[in-house]
Amino acid sequence: MVEISGLCKWYDDFSALYDISLTVAEGEKVVICGPSGSGKSTLIRCINQLEGHQQGSIRVAGQEVRPGMKGIEAIRREVGMVFQSFNLFPHMTILDNLTIGPIRNRGMGRAAARALAMEYLNKVRISEQADKYPPQLSGGQQQRVAIARALCMQPRVMLFDEPTSALDPEMIAGVLEVMETLARDGMTMIVVTHEMGFARRVADRVVFMDEGEIVETAPPEAFFSAPRTNRAKLFLGQLL
Ligand code: ATP
Ligand code: MG
Repeated sequence: MVEISGLCKWYDDFSALYDISLTVAEGEKVVICGPSGSGKSTLIRCINQLEGHQQGSIRVAGQEVRPGMKGIEAIRREVGMVFQSFNLFPHMTILDNLTIGPIRNRGMGRAAARALAMEYLNKVRISEQADKYPPQLSGGQQQRVAIARALCMQPRVMLFDEPTSALDPEMIAGVLEVMETLARDGMTMIVVTHEMGFARRVADRVVFMDEGEIVETAPPEAFFSAPRTNRAKLFLGQLL
């Protein structure tokens, strides 16, 4: 579903990503972790070309994505993205936040878009808030809405960049639960998170990054119980 090979990215002469290769199969769940500044967000953002890369290749659902390419919008429609900040339109109702994408970018009719939106709002357990505005919701609720909004575009892969790190502690579990349901439903997921419980329960593989490189890739049990590199040991030690 996502195939990254020999990916390099520089900001001027600073190497943000170096020789990254990572293949994520359909239905697979990959958790990316690593210290601040290790390139996790940059990598996620390269996948749908919110950032362009200079070397290597990225394929999404079989199609190569390149900086400045024509037709990137079509590929972005296949890739749902959820950020740390929810980025909902504050002046639009929850329901309208969810229907605008399918109506404008998928050519869906209003009634169908509403039905789809309500289905996903149910899924993230927030359908009773459909007519409210984002500022009236808690952070955790807004993040669940952001997940439902991404799902309304019916993506083939979902990217998450620290979806719970801006939330109050009591809001985190609800968002992780929604992500776990999504995982059980078979979604292909790439998740940057430091929620190691989530990684243990959900990830097929954990990818550990440091200084722009993938240092280690392992199933969660192996990664957490016996990290192979000193850098990973140091990182895990700091999380405790
Ligand atoms: P965090 O855990 O803090 O979110 P991260 O692993 O997501 O960190 P990135 O945001 O991908 O790290 O950044 C990787 C490196 O690239 C950092 O050193 C950062 O300063 C640098 N960087 C990111 N964006 C830019 C930019 N637009 N211009 C220059 N340098 C950048
Ligand atoms: Mg980041």
